[in-house]
Amino acid sequence: MSVFLKLDRVCKQYDEKTAVLIGVDLAVEPGESVAITGPSGCGKSTLLNIIGTLERPDAGTLEFAGTNLLTLSADETAEFRNRRIGFVFQLHHLLPQCSILENVLVPTWVNQQAVDSEARALRLLDRVGLSERLHHRPGQLSGGERQRVAVVRALINQPQLLLADEPTGSLSRDGADQLVQLLLELNREEKLTLIMVTHAQPLAEKMDRVLTLENGILKPE
Ligand code: ADP
Repeated sequence: MSVFLKLDRVCKQYDEKTAVLIGVDLAVEPGESVAITGPSGCGKSTLLNIIGTLERPDAGTLEFAGTNLLTLSADETAEFRNRRIGFVFQLHHLLPQCSILENVLVPTWVNQQAVDSEARALRLLDRVGLSERLHHRPGQLSGGERQRVAVVRALINQPQLLLADEPTGSLSRDGADQLVQLLLELNREEKLTLIMVTHAQPLAEKMDRVLTLENGILKPE
């Protein structure tokens, strides 16, 4: 199978004393689900942010579907990110004053290619069991429901890659299991490549592949 995402010798350091990533290599195939685990502070979020073009590495290469992302201009990078990559974080970051439906549609406001977004939003919200909550505000939903809204918002522009950074970190154990189950179902149904950072080993093991970040390098388990 072809490689969809490729990192070679990616390095990142924030200060002179400590290098966070010292040569990360990673090749992900289309449609794969990959977990990245490792102790707190080992650089998992840094790595995910580099893959998602939110941060730039100091050295190394980052290729996505044949495009060398580090050669794009800032505007091209932002457009690429908005259309190709979805993000889910530990905290949902929903806009409290907007309805669930409005929250889900926010990423389409800056996507000029977006068509039939409202129909897609309604379909996905129905898919995650929230069709009765379209006009509620985030504060009226449970933690698990809010994370499901964040997942739908991440998928609204039909990204090829979903990056999830401790998406279950604020949920109960049952809520966490259900959210990971949902991510894996969407990974299959939407032909979505999924990379999830988690320090919960049982959740990581549900993915196709588990990698551990240790001493600045990514290793298979
Ligand atoms: P993890 O996600 O595994 O907990 P992080 O990627 O958040 O780890 O952080 C890795 C290390 O880099 C930590 O020591 C953290 O303090 C440091 N770090 C992360 N982001 C920054 C930043 N923007 N500026 C300076 N140091 C940072």
